[in-house]
Parts: sequence; structure tokens; C-alpha cells
Amino acid sequence: MRSNFFWASALLLLSSGAYAQKATSPSNTTSYVSSRSPKSVARPKLVVGMVVDQMRWDYLYRYYDRYSNDGFKRLLREGFTCENTFIPYTPTITGCGHACAYTGSVPAIHGIIGNGWYDRQLNREMYCAEDSTVKTVGSSSKAGQMSPKNMLVTTVADELRMATNFKSRTIGIAIKDRGAILPAGHTANGAYWYDGSAGKFITSTYYTNVLPDWVNQFNDEKLPEQYTAQPWNTLYPISTYTLSTADEKPYEGKFKGENGTSFPHKIAGPAQLASLPAGNTYTLEFAKRAVESNRMGTNGVTDFLAVSLSSTDYVGHQFGPNSIEAEDTYLRLDKDLGEFFKFLDKTVGKGQWLYFITADHGVAHVPGYSKENRMHGGTVSTGESVKILNAGVKKEFGIDKAILDADNYELYLNYAAIPKVKMAEVKEYLIDELKKIPGVQEAFDLKSIGAGSLTQPIKNMVTAGYNAKRSGDVMFTLQPGWIAGGNTGTSHGVWNPYDAHIPLVWMGWGVKPGRTNRNTEMTDIAPTVAAMLRIQMPSGNVGHVITEVAH
Ligand SMILES: [Zn+2]
Repeated sequence: MRSNFFWASALLLLSSGAYAQKATSPSNTTSYVSSRSPKSVARPKLVVGMVVDQMRWDYLYRYYDRYSNDGFKRLLREGFTCENTFIPYTPTITGCGHACAYTGSVPAIHGIIGNGWYDRQLNREMYCAEDSTVKTVGSSSKAGQMSPKNMLVTTVADELRMATNFKSRTIGIAIKDRGAILPAGHTANGAYWYDGSAGKFITSTYYTNVLPDWVNQFNDEKLPEQYTAQPWNTLYPISTYTLSTADEKPYEGKFKGENGTSFPHKIAGPAQLASLPAGNTYTLEFAKRAVESNRMGTNGVTDFLAVSLSSTDYVGHQFGPNSIEAEDTYLRLDKDLGEFFKFLDKTVGKGQWLYFITADHGVAHVPGYSKENRMHGGTVSTGESVKILNAGVKKEFGIDKAILDADNYELYLNYAAIPKVKMAEVKEYLIDELKKIPGVQEAFDLKSIGAGSLTQPIKNMVTAGYNAKRSGDVMFTLQPGWIAGGNTGTSHGVWNPYDAHIPLVWMGWGVKPGRTNRNTEMTDIAPTVAAMLRIQMPSGNVGHVITEVAH
């Protein structure tokens, strides 16, 4: 009965024209004996997932007029855009975002509650992709001691592997290790990230004991040296960057060795590649090589490539979203994307690859920019705040080092030092004192979020981000426009739209051009891919299929 129903549905889909493109250009993955009895499940040859680190939704339109026809404009022209896609949890941070987009799950379940968190067993910070049981492959540094083991659920790439009895090939690629490792999942054929100290893509023994030949060959071409041989200058004459602030601003971060924040930027060498738009170019060149060398999309089974572009995040943190540097980075990314799409058309075939682009989080304006323009904003120093709070608890209760660590806007309390009978009182004290810190909006006991009076949607987002085994004890939120950070640059991590409203555009196989302003969530990405591929959704999925995309 079930299979009859399935095929009946499939036929309906076919007759609705959703896969007209497939029907008119059958491939080895989609052969139909007749229009009424499909022989095999229709799937794309290749799925390409792309996360642009720190890309806010509004960047699709902010620089639209200057984008080329082949990059973002092609996406919006040929693709389907979910205009109001939100991250449904806090903190809105890289590790969590990469896990969420590919698992359809939230930190409460997938366990990646930040880029790092305080590990109470180890009495130290745990990095999200850290794995001391594996070794670096490809360089002599420790940058390869990474794996997805801290992520507690499967990704949609894992599900594809299992659905095809591991015939599908899945590869994750990014400058940042976590951007490559978490999306590709536990069963990945490979994950590669950039070791700046070596100027190379590396991996870990979790995946392989030796770098594949194609990776060695790519590394031998020493592209990072080429990309960093010249200063970073603007792509077009700097006078044409009219959508950004003046080049020199005191609230922008300086590159090491520079006296100001103006173009052209001197480049120190391959170690700096991650912080340049060329870092994205380099990543996409490597992605192309991965497709070619592994003949991805031409194996008669659907393959999966997960690419994350990390350099947008480094540029954004240092210079902020209103800088010429950010504008130049997106104009260059647009060109690189155009080339990448053409490459996929040529290598895999137009209409044969399914693509989505999203972001792991957005970003706040630089507080200095907000103040300059008479809006609210400021910085909270977490480290300084912890020192003051610890001194206060010492004075009030005679307890030393009551706060062990602070991460992800959460305080981890010292259970050994605080007597059980005093815990409630100490928490109450800390909550009251936190609220007095300029820029702090609200503070609350994480163990009783359900009972608290937090406003929606913050309450739901905090709850989805709270993992009982890994999260802290007391959490604080910031006033709009405020960041946890230093004197220059900006950051992200809070519930507000500038951090939580991300792009989500689909293009290619089975996607009809269009748009929706209906609210969708980051957790909807993985189940939508799963629905289109006719595979099981990931093991911790809480998202919903976007039915406008997966017809
Ligand atoms: Zn990020």
C-alpha cells in the first residue's frame, strides 16, 4: 500500500510539471519506462549546499544593482527565494548554524551549542569540532585534530549516504574546519579545511590517513601564495563604492602591520588568506577540483558537496557590514559564484544539480557606526563582566571564582565552590548584577527558562539553544545593537533579526523560479533537501519541508 501511494504521488508530481525539466532531459539517475511508470526515483546528479558565513539576507539586495547577471542575479532570477528565513535558536553562531542547516535540528538536540562551550568533565573549553583522538593529515600543525563527533545527530548528507547504501559521495569544504566538517556529517567521504600556517587544505585521520592525490596536486599549485602576493585593492574604482561608509573609520579593525583601515590593504602572506575575499575564490576553486577529480555528479547516483565560504565572516567581523571591504567582498563573491554556477552547468549539466545558498548567521552593525548615526549600540566585555561578578560574589558570599567560564552569553557556575544551599541565592545575585551592566537587556536562570517571563520569540529561541548536558547556568541577552566584543569591528550571536534573518535561495534541479515571504526557518533546509531526494530526514530534525520548493 505504501509503495502504491508513493508512486501515485510521484506520478502526480510528474503530471504537475514539477519535474518537467527532468522529463524532457532524462539522465542516468532518472529513466522512465513510460510517462506512467517511473523506473527509478528521480534525483539530481549532485546536491551543492552553500553556507556564506555571516551573510545577512539584505545583502542579496543591498548590492543587487552591482551584481553580475550570472551570480546572485541568476539565483534570484532562476531560483526560488525564501525571503523570510530565520534562525530559530540562540546563539546565532557559526558552529550552530552549520550544524542546523544540514541537520534540521537545533542546539538543544544536535549538541553544537556554540563554536565552543565549557566542558565540566574536562574543566576547560571544548571546541565544537575538536577531537583529540584524531591527527592532522596534510600538515604538521594541530589544525587537523577535528571531527564531527561532538555533533549528536545525522546530517542530510549522512542520510543520502545511507539511502544509497553509501554509494553517494559526500564532501565538505571550507576555510574553517567546522564549516567543512559539520555539514558533511559523520559518514562523509571527505572534509577539507584550510591550515593557514601551512597555506594548504588539510583533513584529519577521521577521514583518511593520507591526503588524496587530487588534494596534494591542488596544494602543490600554491594558490594561496598567488592570492596574497598583491595588496587587496577594490575590484572597481573606489569612488564607485557609494553604498558604504568612508574607507577610514576608527571603529574598523586594522590588519596586523597596518596603521589605518584604508585600501589598499597590505597582505602578510598565505596565513592571511582567510581574511580576504580571495579566500572565497580559493575555496570555490578547490570545490571545483573536488567535483572534477571525484567525478561528482557523474556516478549514476546523487553526490553531495557542502561548501562554506568563511572569508565573508572574517571581513565582516573586522570591518563591519557598512564598509567598502564588505561591499567589495560581496561584489567579488558574486563574480566567483557566477563562475562556479557555469562550471557546474558544464561539468554536471544545467538543471542536473540542486543548489541552495544560506548563511550560518548574520551580523550586527559596528556599534561605532550605530552611534555615529544616532542609533543605539555598544559593547559588553564578557571577560570584564565575569571579573566584576566574581568579585561581587566573593564580597557578598565569601565564595571564590563562582563563575568558572562564560561562553555564548552563558555563565557556567562553579558547583564545587558554591554550596548547594547557597546556589539559588548566588544565581539571583548574579542575575540582578548582570541586569545592571550597560547593554544587558535580560538575565535569567537557564534551568527554569520554561517558568520565566522571557518574551517571545526570545524564549523559544533560548529554549531551542539550551542543551541540558552542555549549556551553562545563567544566561543574559543584550539590548538591540549591542554586541559582546571589543573597541573595533562587530559580532553576532543574539536573537535579533540582524543576526537571525538569513538568505535561503534554491536553484537547479526541480526548483521552479519564485519567492515567498512566508516565514521559514533554518531548520527547514535539511528536511526540504531530504524531501526532494526522497530520503529520510536527519535523526534530530525538527524542521518542516518547504512545500513551495519540494513540490
Ligand atoms: Zn559564522
